[in-house]
Amino acid sequence: MKTLLPTSTAGSLPKPSWLSEPKTLWSPWKLEGAALVEGKQDALRVSLAEQQLAGIDIVSDGEQTRQHFVTTFIEHLDGVDFEKRETVRIRDRYDASVPSVVGAVARAKPVFVEDAKFLRSLTKAPIKWALPGPMTMIDTLYDGHYQSREKLAWEFAKILNQEARDLEAAGVDIIQFDEPAFNVFFDEVNDWGIATLERAIEGLNCETAVHICYGYGIKANTDWKKTLGQEWRQYEEIFPKLQKSNIDIVSLECQNSRVPMDLIELIRGKKVMVGAIDVASETIETPDAVADVLRKALQFVDADKLYPCTNCGMAPLSREVARGKLNALGAGAQIVRNELLA
Ligand SMILES: [Zn+2]
Repeated sequence: MKTLLPTSTAGSLPKPSWLSEPKTLWSPWKLEGAALVEGKQDALRVSLAEQQLAGIDIVSDGEQTRQHFVTTFIEHLDGVDFEKRETVRIRDRYDASVPSVVGAVARAKPVFVEDAKFLRSLTKAPIKWALPGPMTMIDTLYDGHYQSREKLAWEFAKILNQEARDLEAAGVDIIQFDEPAFNVFFDEVNDWGIATLERAIEGLNCETAVHICYGYGIKANTDWKKTLGQEWRQYEEIFPKLQKSNIDIVSLECQNSRVPMDLIELIRGKKVMVGAIDVASETIETPDAVADVLRKALQFVDADKLYPCTNCGMAPLSREVARGKLNALGAGAQIVRNELLA
């Protein structure tokens, strides 16, 4: 990447209200059949245009074609029954009715590759594509088949690797795995979580990223954050091992979070997507507030490895707020870029 401080978002952006109900996770589609296919593509076009207008350097699909960042991928796999639902505790935080693993999991055909090709056809800018990580996938399911979190994670890692290779062939520049579960299950992350992630990126030539956050700005997450105390040191548990992994980029939550910035030192050498936009607040950051976070991060990450980003996805926000935050991110990065080049 030649651009200094290339900006991107963690992934999701709000969908237009004609496509699905705003500010709702797992919101049902408002269109059907061919109109839905066309509607998703139009939403992707709008989402891309808004990123470009805000000066975002590494663009994404804004996850306009997915209902949810984990579930939509799983829906396309064999071995998971979406009718047979069980209630499980997600990330030790909230109960949700989830589908069941009823047989061997497999990917019958590519899931997002056509969408990625479509995005590729619309822009020459670098593209980042988000996939759920193995540990976050198993945490969003009831497993009545393997009955082993680790075993199921390895199976998903193989499937993710197939999808990632196809995405790379479609022209994706950075493949990102979303692993909010890495902030919760530290022992498992160190025992096999990072290893399964490395299985998912095996053989890839494109860049790879892992996104580890404190979740969307939904109530279950903001309530959980209140229990974490003055300093959030979760990253400290997993960074040493992550630093030694083959993952190129680590995407983190930094704006308005209580994560001590010096923890970034523990992944020295990695590229860091520094979250400089709080997705749990409707308040639009000023460009100066964004610049401030980036300047602090620069103490612990070399300028050529700093990628300004959002803390997490912005799907649950209004489009107006998300647009304002995108603009603030672009403008804030430009302030620091000018300082570095001066
Ligand atoms: Zn996130």
